[in-house]
Amino acid sequence: MGYAVAQAAAEAGAEVTLVSGATALDPPAGVERVDVLTAGEMHAAVMKRAKQADVFIAVAAVADYRPADPKPHKIKRGNGHLSLELAPNPDILADVAALPKGPFCVGFAAETENLMANAQAKRKKKGIPLLAANLAQETFGKETNALTLLDDGGVHELPHAPKIVLARQLVAHIAKMLPRR
Ligand code: C5P
Repeated sequence: MGYAVAQAAAEAGAEVTLVSGATALDPPAGVERVDVLTAGEMHAAVMKRAKQADVFIAVAAVADYRPADPKPHKIKRGNGHLSLELAPNPDILADVAALPKGPFCVGFAAETENLMANAQAKRKKKGIPLLAANLAQETFGKETNALTLLDDGGVHELPHAPKIVLARQLVAHIAKMLPRR
């Protein structure tokens, strides 16, 4: 979905930087891609550029936790269970949304159930003007999706369609919400 949004934004005339985790996808034409491997690298790459951006769209399904003590070598089998301690990753979207004079922030919520209630709560918690909610089982690894946009104006349904169609509708919605220059 992130690659479709990057393509739609570039088509609409935006200068787009796509900060991306590992994927087999090619970057859309005219889009600058910054490759990262970890949530920490993604956080650093985004925070470095966020202040210069007009809009930040957080589409990546970032892992909420990482191993607290990663080993450079193979962990040998022992007897019984093995517990890994996990440390929380930074919340990139919340950090960008908290920037003074930061960009207009758009979040995504992939839920498996209670889509609307969870998405409404997420928009409030992250302090963002627009959130696109989708069902995880309808989007991951698929060419199509359906989105529910939540903003101060209420709920806007974007029915089931190819991801690029939804991405263009999302970009048009964002453009309408941006302050006129
Ligand atoms: O809290 P949750 O992961 O469900 O929120 C999803 C939104 O937050 C998405 O827009 C995702 O890109 C963003 N996110 C983030 N940094 C994280 C986790 C999620 O920016 N560590």
